[in-house]
Amino acid sequence: QAKAAGRNTIRFFDLRMQTVINARVEMEADLRRSLQSHGFTLNYQRQTDNSGHTVGAEALLRWQRPSSQQVSPSVFIPLAEETGLILQLGAWVLEAACRQLVSWDSRPETAHLTMAVNVSARQFRQPAFVDQVLHVIERTGADPRRIKLELTESLLVANIENTIDTMHALKEKGIGFALDDFGTGYSSLAYLKRLPLDQLKIDQSFVRDVLTDPNDAAIARTILGLGHTLGLDVIAEGVETANQRDFLAMHGCRAFQGYLFGRPVTAEQF
Ligand code: C2E
Ligand code: MG
Ligand code: MG
Ligand code: MG
Repeated sequence: QAKAAGRNTIRFFDLRMQTVINARVEMEADLRRSLQSHGFTLNYQRQTDNSGHTVGAEALLRWQRPSSQQVSPSVFIPLAEETGLILQLGAWVLEAACRQLVSWDSRPETAHLTMAVNVSARQFRQPAFVDQVLHVIERTGADPRRIKLELTESLLVANIENTIDTMHALKEKGIGFALDDFGTGYSSLAYLKRLPLDQLKIDQSFVRDVLTDPNDAAIARTILGLGHTLGLDVIAEGVETANQRDFLAMHGCRAFQGYLFGRPVTAEQF
């Protein structure tokens, strides 16, 4: 009796596992298809200074899955990373963002804007990453001084020497670096001091409850102080209310991104 039940449990588990695996295999196939058929787009979200003026944008990838709904990047980016598709996808993002940047040159209200581009770990660690970025810049004519690559802490901590070399090679050309989701990873202060960063992005998880959770408020203030000490810009992401902005501004924050200032929108809307 017990044995039979056990076997059934295992069979049930297998079935569920198989369903999960099938769903992933199908999503991977759809990702491949969309890479071939130009099924990805970029949205742009404003980044503002402390007087509310737009100073730049972050490019955010959007995927309209074939005969389905939009899938969140937090779902398909990890899969693209695991399967290696992120290399092709990341190259497309970089090129599309650079083309957009160049098209902003022709209008005085957008000609000064910077473009922040998310770079995943696997993409950054490609031996040819530096060459890839430089080629895209050359091909598109984008101004490297207006490009900012957003990296995450986990990416920076692994293989620190190579990371620093890669960053220096790109910084030499004028490209900037932001540390995304700062405070959620494991980077130590010793790392932070060595990395040629330009900006820290306070993760939205600390911004969300910054007015009600004293721990989050303390973390946000610490990051602002750290940025000041290390000579780095600090931008708060996920700012949704004027009260959050005011609190952060009071503690020295000079740059903001979040629904309060604008949601990610298409290039035309932007
Ligand atoms: P991220 O780089 O930290 O981007 C910020 C995320 O917060 C975006 O989600 C944005 O839409 C969302 N957001 C902005 N303001 C607010 C706000 O006020 N409230 C709330 N609740 N959310 C806000 P999205 O577009 O879904 O992207 C999720 C993540 O996917 C990104 O986090 C980034 O890690 C990754 N991602 C997006 N595009 C790319 C890409 O082109 N390449 C790579 N490698 N990763 C990407
Ligand atoms: Mg980002
Ligand atoms: Mg972030
Ligand atoms: Mg994130």
